[in-house]
Amino acid sequence: MNPELDIIENHPLDALNTMALPARAEYFCRVNNCADIQQALEFSRQRQLPISVLGGGSNIILAGNVSGLVIQVALVGISTEVKGKDTVLVSAAAGEVWHELVLNMVAQGYYGIENLSLIPGLVGAAPVQNIGAYGVELSDCFVSLEAISIATGEATHFSARDCQFAYRHSVFKAEHRDVYIITSVTLALHRQAKVDITYPTLRAALDDQVEITPQLISETVCRVRREKLPDPAIEPNVGSFFKNPVISQTQAKQLAEQYPDLVTYTQNDDQLKVPAAWLIDKAGWKGVRRDNCGVHPQHALVLTQFGNATGGEILILANHISIDIKQRFGIGLEMEPRVLGG
Ligand SMILES: Cc1cc2nc3c(=O)[nH]c(=O)nc-3n(C[C@H](O)[C@H](O)[C@H](O)COP(=O)(O)OP(=O)(O)OC[C@H]3O[C@@H](n4cnc5c(N)ncnc54)[C@H](O)[C@@H]3O)c2cc1C
Repeated sequence: MNPELDIIENHPLDALNTMALPARAEYFCRVNNCADIQQALEFSRQRQLPISVLGGGSNIILAGNVSGLVIQVALVGISTEVKGKDTVLVSAAAGEVWHELVLNMVAQGYYGIENLSLIPGLVGAAPVQNIGAYGVELSDCFVSLEAISIATGEATHFSARDCQFAYRHSVFKAEHRDVYIITSVTLALHRQAKVDITYPTLRAALDDQVEITPQLISETVCRVRREKLPDPAIEPNVGSFFKNPVISQTQAKQLAEQYPDLVTYTQNDDQLKVPAAWLIDKAGWKGVRRDNCGVHPQHALVLTQFGNATGGEILILANHISIDIKQRFGIGLEMEPRVLGG
């Protein structure tokens, strides 16, 4: 018999989001297993409460108090199954810490996610935006996930195809937003070391190394990230605030006439990706402070707050940046984190 789930009223969320924004959940619970999830769903059904799902809070902006029930996913457990000569299937529960899973896999000699070292957050959120870094995305090794329908409580299986992964995108950011609680994720990793060092920053950081192993990649990615990215525990942030916009070749050509130093990356035959950081930096926003929040002085893509900001202030700053970028370059910026509450 599963013990009664502890559901707390008026629970503070300040310490549960890496932007350290002040907000409270009308109701809050932490679920450790599927029976807890069913109890939480029953509680919300009886009171007709909306549900918000929370992982590590590293990709959310709390615009104010969150009405309804906030469910923090805390299911743990990792299992592995060797398949053939080179593959191992790894299933991790949604509440496992992503970076610890990466370290665990590298230590066991299972490879494929070492480039994704040190991305904050939990395993269950990784498919939501198809986390990516240093030339690798979750979708490169993703096999499937298990989820529970918020409306019916039924367990559902999603293949990679069902998830409709794209750059920082999946079906869970679109038509299945707030529809499922992801409970576990299965990845196919390699047992023979294969490395991907195509990403220029990573290649440069590994320059003088002779033998490049997945362990070395993980260590290097951690080192570079620690050097480059502000630690949310010291400077609250959610990582990249905007996605890198994709523009047409024609628009890129026109922009390059005006801005010869325009940076672009090929996306496909017709489209190019422009670093949002380049646009924001070029527009002079880097280091700009507005009251309690601002653009990080070293990272144009990172918004931070200085102690007393509200989610509303962050969103106003983000909106000003977006409007300015649209006016200057004719390019729309899309926010990466999810806004909750308000
Ligand atoms: C310093 C820093 C660096 C970062 N670097 C990167 C990076 O390199 N690459 C990258 O892709 N991201 C990066 N991020 C963003 C973030 O770490 C990832 O998006 C991460 O996957 C979010 O995990 P989380 O558990 O904190 O999710 P949360 O912030 O708690 O939630 C994010 C979204 O996922 C939903 N969600 C969470 N768990 C579940 C679940 N079990 N079921 C259903 N929905 C769920 C939430 O409802 C919300 O919509 C960075 C963030 C920070 C602070």
